[in-house]
Amino acid sequence: MADTTPQLKYHILTFGCQMNKNDSERVESLLRGLNMTTTPAPEDADVILMNSCSVRQKAEDRIYGMARNFAQLKEKNPNLIICVTGCMPGRDKDGGMREKLPGVDLFFPTKDMIHLPKWLGELNPGIRPLDDLEKDYFALHPTLTKTYQAFVTIQTGCNHFCTYCVVPFSRGLEVNRSLKQILDETRHLAETGCKEVTLLGQIVNHYVAPDPQFFSPQNPYTNSDFAKLLWEVSQIPGIERIHWTAPHPIFMTDEVIDALALPKQVNYLHLPVQSGNNEVLRRMNRRHTREFYIETIKKIRAARPDIAIGTDIIVGFCGETDEQFRDTVELYKECDFDISYNAQYSQRSGTLAVKAFRDDVPQAEKRRRWWVLQELMEDIVKKKNQKYVNSAVSVLVEQWSHGWCEGNSFEMKRVRFKGDQSLIGCICPVEIYKAEEWMLWGRAST
Ligand code: SF4
Repeated sequence: MADTTPQLKYHILTFGCQMNKNDSERVESLLRGLNMTTTPAPEDADVILMNSCSVRQKAEDRIYGMARNFAQLKEKNPNLIICVTGCMPGRDKDGGMREKLPGVDLFFPTKDMIHLPKWLGELNPGIRPLDDLEKDYFALHPTLTKTYQAFVTIQTGCNHFCTYCVVPFSRGLEVNRSLKQILDETRHLAETGCKEVTLLGQIVNHYVAPDPQFFSPQNPYTNSDFAKLLWEVSQIPGIERIHWTAPHPIFMTDEVIDALALPKQVNYLHLPVQSGNNEVLRRMNRRHTREFYIETIKKIRAARPDIAIGTDIIVGFCGETDEQFRDTVELYKECDFDISYNAQYSQRSGTLAVKAFRDDVPQAEKRRRWWVLQELMEDIVKKKNQKYVNSAVSVLVEQWSHGWCEGNSFEMKRVRFKGDQSLIGCICPVEIYKAEEWMLWGRAST
């Protein structure tokens, strides 16, 4: 007899970085393994899962608010299970966050997601099996929404303890994924049509293979496992673009810089600097100086002269004076960045900065410094982008709307051009005729 039991539904909300997005793809595989299906409407869901981000208080406040609203849905659907995973549970050492989320049924750090099927089965007997489906978080295959582009996590956690950062607390210490698993997953992705992979890690260029015997004997690199990994991935037929995030300046060794010139390596590097002042960098425990960072950028440009470079900057960190901030502005100009993700410092409980320093830069001053950098960035990028006018770029088309294709160039610049919807997932040559700060406009070239 046919099974007439209605299929249970899940609704996943993801906040924060690419790592969280990749983790949500893993959770989705677990839920599909339970024969559940996705729904865009939380009110129709039997399981709502929020993958939280702790980078700012605002992000956590959003989770509290949404969890309270979702809890009200239990009046209509008493079997509804609400879960929170991601950064918040990982850093909730004293249980204070858990206490503020009484309507939440499961509150677990990302690394424990393999137990989700078992826990769901215990809460709702309609959900089976009651056992863990996988023994290893890394072995879970992410559910991809696109075939042509994928994240591949190569590492979780961080040992670095920058004083403003919650990651070592929320995600634990660094764990490197097996090289064999990374290469198997990437080969499988390529076989199923993936053209662009983004390797993910908290300090991605600090990757150390737990099973180095899987590096090929022909691999030209000898010192850096990350450079070796880049070379291995570049040998996989079908993969046309390799992207990675986020590296740390102190691990941009000569071999990693050399690997930037591998032909499939995208022509873009995101290298967080956070501040241009040595005293602030010291208080942040970044373990590099302004001079070291600038020297590294010079070496990178020598290896790949036309590379686009992006960064992360925090303004208004504890004790940052106006003069120290001006050092950041000067460094920005000297490095001639293509993009910067600027953040106003926000205190995060549990971090070393909270214990050691006073958050003493007034909010209005943080905002002012943020705008100074933002305007500088827009000015620089507008000028820099002019060099693409009348030249050809290659675009991986990711979306289509009303006759316009859109995607990233090899330099990770956003490009829009007139074309057919069938081009989604294709890499197209495009001639640029107009450059704005955040968009290059072009025509498909033949
Ligand atoms: S390197 Fe610093 S900022 Fe990056 S994840 Fe580790 S502690 Fe956080």
